[in-house]
Amino acid sequence: MYRIKKTVKLFQNKNKIKFIFMNIHQEITIKCNEVCRFILSLLAIGIVKSSLFHQVKKKYPKVSEQDINSFLKFLITNQIIEEFKESKYENSIVSRQVNFYSTIVPNSESMQDELSNKCVLILGLGGVGSCISYFLAQAGISHFIFVDSDKVENTNLGRQALYFKDDIGKYKVDVISNKLRKLNPNLIIEKHKFTVQSKEDFMKIKHIPDIVVNCLDEPNSYFTGTWVTNYYLGLDIPMINGIGYRGRAISLGLTTIPGKTICWNCANASYKNAIKGYVPILNHNPQAGVTSPLANFIGSIHAQEVINILCKELTPILTNRIGVIDFLTLDIKWYKLTINSTNCCPICRRRNNI
Ligand SMILES: [Zn+2]
Repeated sequence: MYRIKKTVKLFQNKNKIKFIFMNIHQEITIKCNEVCRFILSLLAIGIVKSSLFHQVKKKYPKVSEQDINSFLKFLITNQIIEEFKESKYENSIVSRQVNFYSTIVPNSESMQDELSNKCVLILGLGGVGSCISYFLAQAGISHFIFVDSDKVENTNLGRQALYFKDDIGKYKVDVISNKLRKLNPNLIIEKHKFTVQSKEDFMKIKHIPDIVVNCLDEPNSYFTGTWVTNYYLGLDIPMINGIGYRGRAISLGLTTIPGKTICWNCANASYKNAIKGYVPILNHNPQAGVTSPLANFIGSIHAQEVINILCKELTPILTNRIGVIDFLTLDIKWYKLTINSTNCCPICRRRNNI
């Protein structure tokens, strides 16, 4: 059975039809006669090929099979229609996501199969980490490792996802795990309630994840990013380091793909000449101000980046650059980062033979 893809919208202007692809910002306009419009009306609800030919020939006997075939070929080649088969994700929580990617990747169902089986390690379940865990569970990720030693406090409730009044005093890893299981009862979750104070602490996590998302801001992101990089880069695990909000400025990235992109250590050496060679001496102040939309905005971008990294059909967007957004103006300044012999850390030097 053929039908018009769910991500394609049709608009008509006299004898013209415009196909708008909702998810890739593209459109195609063609001249369209009455027969083509009739074919499109059949394809809108879905129809098997033989039945389509039968109905068109019955209504327009002069139209040749060759003409119908060439119009169908045009629609298939341009990804306007698809051969419809019942999807195993049809009524699942990820059905819209599978639809979204259907015109972006060759097989969005197999991409979802791949994504669902990945294991994500989230370090820190505060404003950014709690949001990322929620979005990734919604995206169908089935295996999580959570690390956080904190218990839920009243001041967390104003920005951190999934925490409510009756959670106060409970461990965040327990609360998040219970909430996410209400979304997907089959989740596999490993919980760790220790405070990360060095890279050696990661040895307590026995399972090797497919990706690490560092949302630890204590003592500060500079140090936690370095610990995560030094431990997991050596294990060939991709990672996102970027906690990032400081007042009205929020930072996006950095994504590290081992052996392919600049890492957190190398980036810190080249990021902003003004701070080159300096390391922070004040630890993160947990009472630093932030709004809920601000924290969750970073969380949502980084959750999408996790999907981009885990699906080989997609492309990570936060490699070799850090974006700093002024939240009051939405201006983004991108710091492009390149690896070279002067900023290269020992791990990348070994890997890249620099
Ligand atoms: Zn490096």
